[in-house]
Amino acid sequence: MTTRYLIRFDDITPGMAWSKFKPFEAVADELNLPFLVGVVPDCRDQSLVVEPERADFWAWLREKAAKGWTIAQHGYTHIYATKERGLLGIGRKSEFAGLPYAKQFEKLANGKEIMMREGVWHGVFMAPSHSFDANTLKALKALDFSAITDGYGFFAYDVDGLIALPQLLARPLGLGLGVETICLHVNTMSDASIARMVGFIREHRSSIIGFGDAIAIESKSVLVEQFLRFMSQFALRSYRRVRG
Ligand SMILES: [Zn+2]
Repeated sequence: MTTRYLIRFDDITPGMAWSKFKPFEAVADELNLPFLVGVVPDCRDQSLVVEPERADFWAWLREKAAKGWTIAQHGYTHIYATKERGLLGIGRKSEFAGLPYAKQFEKLANGKEIMMREGVWHGVFMAPSHSFDANTLKALKALDFSAITDGYGFFAYDVDGLIALPQLLARPLGLGLGVETICLHVNTMSDASIARMVGFIREHRSSIIGFGDAIAIESKSVLVEQFLRFMSQFALRSYRRVRG
């Protein structure tokens, strides 16, 4: 049994830290890797503007999509509206959780419209700060999204008719089964951690898969899968609590 890895990047925006993303883009080109990127459709969060904005942002994304990358819709404006932790109970702020259904639907629809117009809407949702609630899921379903990039455990599972692909930590655990999503925020990564992660990617090239393959991996045993999901939820909550 081997662990498969999906490499996920949050906060992909025109003004992101392109200089830090460059080594990842280079290794993806060299090894033909399909990354998962979370794009903010209409970024209003100034903390995500850290380098000069890229004028060819959407064209660049279309090029990546053509190479097999999966483009997720990372919220709408990335402005946090509430302090809700949401269903997963791990974030401390949310662009969606806690807002009325109609408001959430409107934000998600606006974001989808931009992604559609630019030709990069893949029907995948990545919640800012991992925070969403039952109304978010309902609105996503109504807008024909098929999958979300968060959840507990090591295998994709069904949440209210959407596929949830678990995402646990920023570092690989390598437990030897299922798929681990490694969640990276390049804007705040140090050069050392970038070098380390690029090294990890090279070393594990044969185990790195794209989003479509990741959601297709099935557990051989439903009981084992449920147990692992339960345990990871328990362990992660304690881990985050300890870290404060
Ligand atoms: Zn984000």
